[in-house]
Amino acid sequence: MAIEQTFSIIKPDATRRNITGKINAIIEATGLRIVAQKRIHMTLAQAQQFYAVHRERPFFGELTEFMASAPVVVQVLQGENAVAKYREVMGATNPANAAPGTIRKECALSVGENSVHGSDSLDNAKIEIAHFFGGIEIVG
Ligand code: GDP
Repeated sequence: MAIEQTFSIIKPDATRRNITGKINAIIEATGLRIVAQKRIHMTLAQAQQFYAVHRERPFFGELTEFMASAPVVVQVLQGENAVAKYREVMGATNPANAAPGTIRKECALSVGENSVHGSDSLDNAKIEIAHFFGGIEIVG
């Protein structure tokens, strides 16, 4: 299987509670490597751009205001099958439906305040990584 990179965001509900280390420990326990990360505070305009695909959804305002409400940690995760693997590790969007051991089951507060974002495809991962990091070389 190919080594891939995926893009992750540790969201404001988690940075506020100072549990980024707990989330990183869950990520690393799966074998994924955190090859880049930085803490940023998104503006509302940046959050609206990032989630533009959801702009017609009723929760768009709530989602984007939440993402701009406190710092986030943006990350590049690397490993075999990283995109699908991280989606599995994150768990279902709504923590009530997430499997035990997943980040959202162990850490999330609600469907909105659900602790993490992960790219939903390899193409989107490349776009998101380029946007926030300008690309990260795959080093074995
Ligand atoms: P994901 O890929 O699992 O993150 O889920 P989606 O792409 O469907 O949704 C993007 C993000 O929008 C989710 O991670 C949530 O933070 C947020 N979201 C989705 N559904 C709801 C909702 O019903 N209410 C609120 N407030 N936020 C939601």
